[in-house]
Amino acid sequence: MMQAVPISLENCAKTFTDGTRALEPVDLAIAAGETLVLLGPSGCGKTTTLRLIAGLEQPDAGGRVLFGGEDVTALPIEKRNVGMVFQSYALFPNMSVAENIAYGLRLRRQSAAEQRARVGEMLALMRIERLADRSIDQLSGGQRQRVALARALAVRPRALLLDEPLTALDAKLRDTLRFEIDSLLRELGITAIYVTHDQAEAMALGDRIVVMDHGRIAQVGAPRDIYQRPASRYVAEFIGTMNRLSGHAEGEVFRCPGGYVAWPELPATAREILFRPEDTRIAAEGEAASLHGTVSAAFFCGDHVRLFVDVGEERPLVLETPARREYRHGETVALAVERHGLMVL
Ligand code: ATP
Repeated sequence: MMQAVPISLENCAKTFTDGTRALEPVDLAIAAGETLVLLGPSGCGKTTTLRLIAGLEQPDAGGRVLFGGEDVTALPIEKRNVGMVFQSYALFPNMSVAENIAYGLRLRRQSAAEQRARVGEMLALMRIERLADRSIDQLSGGQRQRVALARALAVRPRALLLDEPLTALDAKLRDTLRFEIDSLLRELGITAIYVTHDQAEAMALGDRIVVMDHGRIAQVGAPRDIYQRPASRYVAEFIGTMNRLSGHAEGEVFRCPGGYVAWPELPATAREILFRPEDTRIAAEGEAASLHGTVSAAFFCGDHVRLFVDVGEERPLVLETPARREYRHGETVALAVERHGLMVL
């Protein structure tokens, strides 16, 4: 039903008229039908990148935006045929749901019959048929966002661009809509670019994630690659929680204030080793443990306890452990680290 096109940015930088450099020269290729997530902290250039793709901004001289090989750099948004969805919905409050969805079709001067058919199709796709005649101010946030998606898709865009579409919603609704958007993008096979600062959302939705840092691309990869093989400390710290020990290598052993970690592949120059909470555990009874610390916080989460263990580092180690037993503040615990989870950056 949708036409999927590959999109690429070539050498796209953006300097605003006040001199703000929002984007350093960026090259990025998005495959047809792919969901690419732009992820990073506030101000890193995510929205600017999206606006360059949309045609709402022009790249600095020398930059090019290509849709399916066609150079669209000089084309304004209305000629690029993209659908956009924003955090703020941007719906017309004085129009009904159906009129909102038909808006782009009217601009394109489609016949009334065509408009009706397409609006019906979109209402069904988003499962909001019963809302067709409602006015926007009678809708919940989640319903508004479904209408915004329906409106964006009604024109059969060449790409769908989403800027923090779930940020304004409460946590539970965010989960539901994240699931719906994921199914929708898969079903439609449309090229989608999704901006978020929420790493859980990025990992759940992205075929690939672009992690941005101060107008630069810090890493591009599948969610699993970025999580398991972060290219830099910035990426490692931004995605998920990372445990860190500082010290030095002595042969196959990394020595640190809390003890040591044995690792045959340990680089001789390592000053810091990193590993995820899920590769950190409380040592089993009778297991020879080489790392010790004291419990600085224990949060009961029902099925598990989230433990913070002070091992003499700047930050406590974080781990999750079965809730079978209680942990007291200040209690000494022995830890083990799974070797396959160890990293040096
Ligand atoms: P957020 O999540 O807060 O929206 P972002 O990653 O989307 O952040 P951008 O909106 O792309 O970041 O902004 C990147 C930088 O460019 C910021 O420093 C921002 O202040 C600046 N900027 C954005 N738009 C303009 C503008 N029209 N004029 C001047 N500077 C701008």
